[in-house]
Formats: sequence, C-alpha cells, structure tokens
Amino acid sequence: MSLRIYNTLSRALEAFSPIEPGHVRMYVCGMTVYDLCHLGHARSMVAFDVVQRWLRASGLRVTYVRNITDIDDKIIRRAVENGETIRSLTDRMIDALHQDADALGIERPTFEPRATEYVPQMLSLIGRLQDKGLAYQGSDGDVNFAVRKFPGYGKLSGKSLDELQAGERVAVQDGKQDPLDFVLWKSAKPSEPDEVKWSSPWGAGRPGWHIECSAMGCEMLGESFDIHGGGADLQFPHHENEIAQSEGATGRPFAQLWMHNGFINVDNEKMSKSLGNFFTIRDVLKEYDAETVRFFVVRSHYRSPLNYSDVHLNDARSALKRLYTALSLVAPAESAIDWGNPFAARFKAAMDEDFGTPEAVAVLFELAAEVNRSKSAQTAGLLKSLGGCLGLLQGDPQAFLQAGASGLDAAAIEAQIAARAAAKAAKDWAEADRIRKALLEQGIVLKDSAAGTTWEAAAKG
Ligand SMILES: [Zn+2]
Repeated sequence: MSLRIYNTLSRALEAFSPIEPGHVRMYVCGMTVYDLCHLGHARSMVAFDVVQRWLRASGLRVTYVRNITDIDDKIIRRAVENGETIRSLTDRMIDALHQDADALGIERPTFEPRATEYVPQMLSLIGRLQDKGLAYQGSDGDVNFAVRKFPGYGKLSGKSLDELQAGERVAVQDGKQDPLDFVLWKSAKPSEPDEVKWSSPWGAGRPGWHIECSAMGCEMLGESFDIHGGGADLQFPHHENEIAQSEGATGRPFAQLWMHNGFINVDNEKMSKSLGNFFTIRDVLKEYDAETVRFFVVRSHYRSPLNYSDVHLNDARSALKRLYTALSLVAPAESAIDWGNPFAARFKAAMDEDFGTPEAVAVLFELAAEVNRSKSAQTAGLLKSLGGCLGLLQGDPQAFLQAGASGLDAAAIEAQIAARAAAKAAKDWAEADRIRKALLEQGIVLKDSAAGTTWEAAAKG
C-alpha cells in the first residue's frame, strides 16, 4: 500500500494501512436531518465518496458508515413549528438527502445508521463512563462528561484546558461541575414531545449529539477502527468529545486517522443564511448540472477551502466539456485500468498522496489532449475509467455536450418550465417572466403553444 493520508490527530501525512489487512473501516459524521442539504454537505459527501472510491480502486474492502442524526434540538424545534412528528420530518429529509446525494453521483455508504435506533448502545457507553468516574449526573438531571478527568482532552484540536477555560463564561451553567463538561444525556423537559423521550437509568431523556457518534462508531465498526472523517467545523468540540467518550469508556484508541474536509465559501465569504448567500444542493442544481457541481468540488483538494461562485462553476462546466469532447471523438475501449501506463501511474501517484485530486484531474486533461491527437480508443477508455475513479465522465458524451449552453440538463430545464407554469397558474406573472428570462440568459429559449411549453438551446458557445 503506498497511500499516505493527512492525519489531523498527528498533523502529518502518514502511510496508511488498515488495522485489519485488506479491510478499511471508515466512519463519517452525517447530516442532522431537519432541513435540506446545503453546499457544505455536498462538499463533505463528495470528498468522502472520492475517498471510498479510491480505497476500493486500490483493492481494499471498505465498510463505510455515515450516520444520520435524527434527534436534536433543531429537529424538535422544526417539527413543532411544522406541526408534524419528528419521524415524519426526519423521514422526509432523509429522502431528500438521498435524492441530492444520488444526483451528485455519491455512492451510498455501506451503512447509514439513524441515531434513534442506537439509544441502548449510547446508554451502555454512558454507563461505562459513569463506572469509570468520567460521567456524573448533575443537579438538573442531565448526565455530563467530566472533561478534566480524561487525560488527553484537546489532543485532536490542539486546544489546552486552560485555553478553553479562559474562553468560557465564568458562571457554571446548568448542573455541570465544570463549564467545560459536556452533556451525554439530556433529561426530558415537560414541553418536549413524547417521541423524544427514552427511559434510562438516569430518568427519561434523550442522548446528546456527541455520544451518538461514539456509540454508532463502536457498535458498527468496533471500538478501534481506521478512519474517522467529517467537515473541519466538526473537529472541535464534536470530534474532540467523541474521542474523550470513546477512549474514556474503552481505554483503546478510537480512530487511528482523522480526516477533515475544508470549508466552503461563497464569493469569498463564509456561507451563511444571514448573509443571504446560503445555497442548498437543490438551489445549485437548478442552475448547474450535477456532474459540473461534482467536478467543481473534486478538482480542488479536499482540505483546501473551496470558493463557490458562478465564475468558478461556469469554468468547471467548460473544463468538463473539454473532457467529454475528447470522449465524443472516439468510442472508449472498455478494459481494466493498466496501472503501468504512464498516465495511470501518475494519476495513482497523485491520488495516493492524500487524495490529490487536483493533480489527478490534471492527468485527465493530458489524456484528453492525447485522445484529441491520436483518436485512440484505448486512451479514451483509460480517460473514462480514471474519471470513474472520481465519479466523473460516466455519462453519454453527446448528451452532456448537447445540454443547454448553461449546462442545465433537460430535467433541470423541465423543472423550471413546471415552476413557470405553476407561477402562471397562480397569476404570478412577474415570477413566470423572471423564470423565462433566467432561462434565456442561460441560452434556453422557451416556446409557448396551445399544447404547452417546449424549449430549445440557443446556438451559443
Ligand atoms: Zn459525529
């Protein structure tokens, strides 16, 4: 195995070899399902999809767990606002998550455990922590983790307890013995729906967020496994707390390697609802085809910050078009990748160095240039297969190239036409006109007739 991966825990590139030879066990923190997935989720899902694809391409078996947090303050609040049950809200959002992930070509993880189905495992972990003196029930009924009793707290994020203490407000809140302590079990509040109350040795309540991942990770992958991943924003406190809980209870190292993908910015600003630059995956897929969005994510290194802007997306679209143009020239030969081929060897070297997708994508462009020159079916086949390692270039080249000049695919255009028809039906002429103009700007001309609306792509670059 020649793969090296950057480990947040050691802050160094490390040679990777799974604990169990030939089998990688990987856990990635998934979504809290109270709303639609946004661009940040897309980035994390694509990043770890590339990881699992490359591990498999390297001949390893991968057990990939991406959990679903289906119990949380935000979920409870949203369900109450909507007047629906927690289950109905979370089921809907999980369906939407799957649709978005499928659109982006993200392979399903091996397992997607829902937190609410692992409450007994969480209670058992909390019990072990209490037996070891690492957890206590506070005066308000919540069970907390005693951070200062766990040596090594802060090793992932590099934060010291004194530094953390200085950042805390002095007042000891709730029933915590120390403001740094975090909650493992939240005691039930009378105002909360029964659906979020489980009985426990500490009284009715529900799990804290951090304990969910420790319990599901240990249950599904064992107490020590290979890779734990997530967005950089989860490093502290979430992942730090996962380590404290898991290693505190088991006395064994939790994950040997911690991977974190970088942030996503929009027009060089942090994406946030308050700045009005917040995009769901669905918003983005109305403007750009899914493979362009995936390509935009993949061609940056997973640890770099990623800047979303129309300029970058349009550029990604034209770049992807160049690759598909090469594949449209000659039918790609189908054969297994010959890793001895110099292009394939360079692609592999790039991917083996901490999933170096920018360099790997550069190899795809060199291959495309080679196809343009030689019209070799063999070379085109290699381009397609290597693209497949990144979840790219598996579509029909003609269909990709013929989609609207904007890159909108037919389904996205039809969705806009349906939205315009709905606006017309509601006599919202301004909205109907806005949609028509927005499509026109992207090179899509609508034709209304008695039979309905049809579209065609304007002849434009
Ligand atoms: Zn987690």
